[in-house]
Amino acid sequence: MKNALALDVIIIGAGAAGLAALRELDRAGKRVLCLEARDRIGGRIATVHDSLSPIPIELGAEFVHGRPREIWEIAESAPLQLYSCMEHAIQVRDGKPQTKADAWLQVDRVMKDLEAAVESGREQTFSEFLAQFDYPADVKELATSYVEGFNAAKADVISIASIVKDQKAADAIDGDRAFRLMNGYDSVLHWMLQGICDLDRKLQLNSQVRAVRWTQDGATVEFVSTQTGAVQKISARHVIVTVSLGVLQAEAIRFEPEPADILHAAKQLRFGEVVRMILRFENAVWEESGDFAEAGFLLSDEKFFRAWWTPLPVRARSITAWSSGPGTGELLGMPKAEIVKRAIQELSHILSMRERQLNELLRAAYFHDWHGDEFARGAYSYVPAHAMGAREALARPAGNTLYFAGEAAETNGHSATVHGAIASGRSAAAQVLL
Ligand SMILES: Cc1cc2nc3c(=O)[nH]c(=O)nc-3n(C[C@H](O)[C@H](O)[C@H](O)COP(=O)(O)OP(=O)(O)OC[C@H]3O[C@@H](n4cnc5c(N)ncnc54)[C@H](O)[C@@H]3O)c2cc1C
Repeated sequence: MKNALALDVIIIGAGAAGLAALRELDRAGKRVLCLEARDRIGGRIATVHDSLSPIPIELGAEFVHGRPREIWEIAESAPLQLYSCMEHAIQVRDGKPQTKADAWLQVDRVMKDLEAAVESGREQTFSEFLAQFDYPADVKELATSYVEGFNAAKADVISIASIVKDQKAADAIDGDRAFRLMNGYDSVLHWMLQGICDLDRKLQLNSQVRAVRWTQDGATVEFVSTQTGAVQKISARHVIVTVSLGVLQAEAIRFEPEPADILHAAKQLRFGEVVRMILRFENAVWEESGDFAEAGFLLSDEKFFRAWWTPLPVRARSITAWSSGPGTGELLGMPKAEIVKRAIQELSHILSMRERQLNELLRAAYFHDWHGDEFARGAYSYVPAHAMGAREALARPAGNTLYFAGEAAETNGHSATVHGAIASGRSAAAQVLL
């Protein structure tokens, strides 16, 4: 195979991880090609720029969690403007705002006990952990919603050791603060492509990889044009696979031979589901009730959408509804109009406003079906109890040929994030360059 190698590296996928690897390898002078199945870059970063909205609409990643250097260094050198989000959270039970301390403070208490449990050597699911404590019912409910919402995970599946590992990694970068990119998350992607000469030759869109045949000396990648159906093959010394965990688990790419340990690790991990809807109104309807005028987050006990967030500190007219919990499964695969209907019903209960009034004021609903999207097949990854080590196994190369990168293969507690995906893409590139 050695003589026939056309390239040094083929990267599969042009999300945050793939583009980070492309940039590093190109700068190191490698002959590199990034193949992307969609007609756009970014993967689970999908920013909509709508002239009717004063802020960019994020269908995928929105927040920069803390101050990860992978994003802040880009923001500094681009330069891009980051602004701090309003954290103040109000818990709403049965349509009534609760007057207790900021809801996050109640969750903090549980997270401290969780850390102590893990430090004493305990490993179990979050539900099993909660069952051993006698917190008030509303605190248990809020903590469960937080863990499920933040991690896109099922509380009776997710590992407490993984939650604590991620929490510690987040604490080290000021992770309890959230920031947004003023011009949208896609501005980070565009920066990553800057300075790559001859980009059209190095980044090929509409190219869906179907098979990777590899040996210790190199690999041949087979891909199909999603526009013409034409099938092509190209060979390289190394291949970096950055497709989502959902795509890997669905075996949408055939590997010959199968890297058994890696695919086993992919099956051990879980790929969480999220339904996220951004509703733009004629006016900021939640500000009409004095209770919510300054709230960053509304944490509800409704069936489907348990977290809502406002654009504060920016005064804009859109609000985000987030579903990642017990009700989410019912929403998956539902037509958009039906999901909007449920979001409006629940918002009407939270704000004590009539559904009809909200419908009259509704101007747009923005939504991407990540579950039905064949190039994502879900939202982001998490670790089930007793599967610590699966991310590390996923990130371990097969020979010196096949490397797996992307948010699920990040091993330092920053998985499931954009900065984790960038770090993982860079780490795979660095291993190739050794
Ligand atoms: C709704 C939602 C909200 C989120 N919110 C946040 C947030 O606020 N903050 C945060 O940090 N993170 C957030 N995330 C997570 C973050 O978006 C991801 O961790 C990150 O973008 C993953 O990047 P990646 O490169 O690993 O994977 P991807 O972005 O999935 O990139 C993989 C690429 O591979 C391509 N591909 C798939 N199959 C093939 C194939 N056969 N051939 C060629 N190409 C293929 C895909 O099209 C895609 O472009 C969110 C995710 C979702 C879904």
